[in-house]
Amino acid sequence: MPRPILATIHTAALRHNLARCRAATPDARVWAIVKANAYGHGIERAFEGLRAADGFALLDLDEAQRVRALGWRGPVLLLEGVFELRDLELCSRLDLWHTVHCNEQIDMLASHKTNVPHRVFLKMNSGMNRLGFTPERYRSAWTRLNALPQVDEISLITHFSDADGARGVASQMAVFASVTKDLPGERSVCNSAATLRHSELGSDWVRPGIAIYGSAPDFPQHSAAEWDLQPAMTLAAKIIATQDLAAGDSVGYGSTFVASRAMRIGIVACGYADGYPRVCPSGTPVLIDGVRGCTVGRVSMDMLVVDLTEMPQSGFGSEVTLWGRAGNGAVLSIDEVAHSAGTVGYELMCALAPRVPVLVEA
Ligand SMILES: *Cc1c(COP(=O)(O)O)cnc(C)c1O
Repeated sequence: MPRPILATIHTAALRHNLARCRAATPDARVWAIVKANAYGHGIERAFEGLRAADGFALLDLDEAQRVRALGWRGPVLLLEGVFELRDLELCSRLDLWHTVHCNEQIDMLASHKTNVPHRVFLKMNSGMNRLGFTPERYRSAWTRLNALPQVDEISLITHFSDADGARGVASQMAVFASVTKDLPGERSVCNSAATLRHSELGSDWVRPGIAIYGSAPDFPQHSAAEWDLQPAMTLAAKIIATQDLAAGDSVGYGSTFVASRAMRIGIVACGYADGYPRVCPSGTPVLIDGVRGCTVGRVSMDMLVVDLTEMPQSGFGSEVTLWGRAGNGAVLSIDEVAHSAGTVGYELMCALAPRVPVLVEA
């Protein structure tokens, strides 16, 4: 018997969430963001659920090759563009669209030999201060790109730092709109948070990532259920042992949890080596046979512990859902678990460990 732990990728949920993003901005085309191996879901595993997208956007050339190997002939966008000159050959060969965010990338394009001019997305640093040309330098970058025979169409792109929060997108959007006002080309500005919270921005291409995987980009202000998003990944394991505790007994490494009364606990075949965060404290929510319960004590490498005191019907072999959808249909959002760990759903889904077997559910 393999160790009783399993991740399930829900194809129908991916399809639903993608449609949900499309409905928020009906005039825009939708890039499904599949960087980081489709946020830990696996590009090949997520593909079927996302094939209704208008294009796939990612960072690694290796991932772009995998998308092409799946038979996808539509748009593929490299969100960070190329890293060295020879990457442009792959762009020519696989017809990859690429972001241009710095002068070094324009230099590379200028020395690239190709008969097929490239579609590029010129990136503005409108305030995030990661990638892109500053508003002052943007138009000269556009002019330089536009003069290159290696370049076909130029689209205009920027990225928001605060689409999920109170600062919002207004000031970055104002900068982007004023600098690009009379430039031709398609626009792309919205990540998941902007697609859902600022859907009036729309533009030609939206770029939802986290929302298509069923996590709320602005949790806890909104939950995934409030955005009508469904979990695309379930992580579940079984109880492989139980223990009865007396008041004063402790649980796990460091004895961080001490029973204040008689308790029954279950030992679950999931630990931090599976991608479950070690920092989750006692009280982190789980579903035990589809019923909401919680963890006790420290998460160890291969096991964690849940409280069964109020769940006499559960025990050896019971299903524990760490996040996602339980067998009875109950949902525990990855956002709640991430919140317990002091992080975001993105980090948990991306950290699903390679040792966990994965099933793709139609
Ligand atoms: C990752 C990424 C996105 C998607 O962000 P989410 O918050 O997951 O929706 C969009 N645009 C760019 C440039 C990105 O790098």
